[in-house]
Amino acid sequence: ALLFGLMCGSSIGVLCFYGLMNRANPRKEILTAIKQNQFHVVYQPVVDAATLQPGGVEVLMRWHHPGAGEIPPDAFISFAEAQKLIVPLTLHLFDLILRDAPALKKCLPPGSKLGINISPGHLHADSFKDDMRKFAASLPPDHFQIVLEITERDMLNQREATKLFEWLHLEGFEIAVDDFGTGHSALIYLERFTMDYLKIDRGFVNAIGMETVTSPVLDTVLTLARRLNMVTIAEGVETPEQAKWLRDHGVNLLQGYWISRPMRLEQLMTWKPDVDPD
Ligand code: C2E
Ligand code: CA
Ligand code: CA
Ligand code: CA
Repeated sequence: ALLFGLMCGSSIGVLCFYGLMNRANPRKEILTAIKQNQFHVVYQPVVDAATLQPGGVEVLMRWHHPGAGEIPPDAFISFAEAQKLIVPLTLHLFDLILRDAPALKKCLPPGSKLGINISPGHLHADSFKDDMRKFAASLPPDHFQIVLEITERDMLNQREATKLFEWLHLEGFEIAVDDFGTGHSALIYLERFTMDYLKIDRGFVNAIGMETVTSPVLDTVLTLARRLNMVTIAEGVETPEQAKWLRDHGVNLLQGYWISRPMRLEQLMTWKPDVDPD
């Protein structure tokens, strides 16, 4: 039911996708899609809240299905999880990024962050550490800072997560808590684990400017993040008013349609921010 809700939320392509998945063999669909190169990636810039200069990108996956058209990741990622295909799918994502890496190196300055979404099914897989090490070793050396975006609801086992995060930090990865504020666990998780970034869910950002009680909550979250030395990123920034509010409240980085939609590599190559800080 959750899956259905997710998929009906978006578009016609999604509805077609639902029909298709009912009919066909979903495992095979995804494996075929990998083989036939139906997936691609798009990049969305993340900018400094004060200067609006890019500090990196988040990598987002897209599926162009020959029959169903564009299938959004909210639909196929959960399918891949359910079908135990998230590891091959993420490895394919790594291949797509590696294919783009020489061009990315040209348009993103050294130290640029590469945000990659990691699903719980991969995080808990036996191959996870090896997969991450191999991927990092295949990127151009000393250029990108990989940031793994993990949602708070995926950090259930405290001991395991603590150990894994220590390992990731030793290996040079950074960790972002994704979609912060949408789970149940919330604040306590921030204290428990060492994480570098806090991504404020766009639900919070949306509410800025409306008369709700959200801003005090957001203020509290930001204060806590600052105390814990976490860098804050607001996602889903769609208006200059939101950007201003966020900057005035000390949010470090911004991401959203106001700055740029996710883009194909070719567009990213020539992209410059065209919004003003004020
Ligand atoms: P997310 O990690 O929270 O990614 C941000 C989503 O917000 C993206 O949706 C992005 O296109 C969208 N977005 C960015 N700016 C704005 C804005 O200003 N307004 C609005 N309304 N939306 C904005 P997208 O690409 O459809 O991805 C949806 C989710 O699918 C992602 O949410 C992430 O959880 C998952 N996903 C995407 N690519 C991957 C991937 O390669 N691997 C994994 N495991 N998950 C992925
Ligand atoms: Ca993300
Ligand atoms: Ca997010
Ligand atoms: Ca999400």
